[in-house]
Amino acid sequence: MAAGIPASIRPAKAPRLDAATLQQAFAGTDAAGRFAALRAAAPGRIVFTTSFGLEDQVLTYLIVESGLPVDFVTLDTGRLFPEVYALWAQTEARYGIVIAPFYPRNDALQLFVRQNGINGFYGSRDARKGCCDIRKVEPLGRALAGAEIWITGLRADQSAARGGAAFAEVDAVRGLLKVNPLLDWSRDEALAFAKANAVPLNPLHGRGFVSIGCQPCTRAIQPGEPERAGRWWWEDDAAKECGLHVGADGRPRRSASAEAQA
Ligand code: SF4
Repeated sequence: MAAGIPASIRPAKAPRLDAATLQQAFAGTDAAGRFAALRAAAPGRIVFTTSFGLEDQVLTYLIVESGLPVDFVTLDTGRLFPEVYALWAQTEARYGIVIAPFYPRNDALQLFVRQNGINGFYGSRDARKGCCDIRKVEPLGRALAGAEIWITGLRADQSAARGGAAFAEVDAVRGLLKVNPLLDWSRDEALAFAKANAVPLNPLHGRGFVSIGCQPCTRAIQPGEPERAGRWWWEDDAAKECGLHVGADGRPRRSASAEAQA
């Protein structure tokens, strides 16, 4: 069984679309062409999960420009930076879209906080993963229910763990195709695109917050540090993912070194 994914949200169906076909179509074109390829594939429900980071803001622009019918959703963990909430409102107003929130289940969260404390995720890796499961992974399952395509802002050079990702890959746990249109973009390319197209960005990016997650679990990074070094900085590299992104085997995506330690 995949870690962190409740059996109740794991569909039995396999995606209808072929990952290899989309992978090939994406490899030979630019971002706009990738959305055109998705339109041509005429899939069922498409969901884009945004956390309002640089890549997600670029994707929001590209999706709106493409006219692709996409459900915009976000996972409101309840522990986000104030700047994220401000950018959420700004993005909806800018593009005339609704970004639907998915929240943790009350009962599970109340029990977790009662048992572990409001900041109990600092206490152990299990507690941190438990918090991510309740605040992110379980709500993501509900957000993706019935979807055939899941669009993410994942880039290959964000971390070693993400280097093995593909433009289109089967998420066997959730029974859909995960599509990563910015997979081969660098951070500088994304920044340049955002600037050229007046894409609204989180002001925290200018203060060293490169990868932005929940406020208590994110710090600014120093020049030369890996992009995701500011996420769960008190843990070693073996656990630098929250369980949202899984490989074809249904296991959380991790680096080769982390696999060796497992
Ligand atoms: S990132 Fe931190 S606060 Fe957010 S869900 Fe995970 S452990 Fe909890």
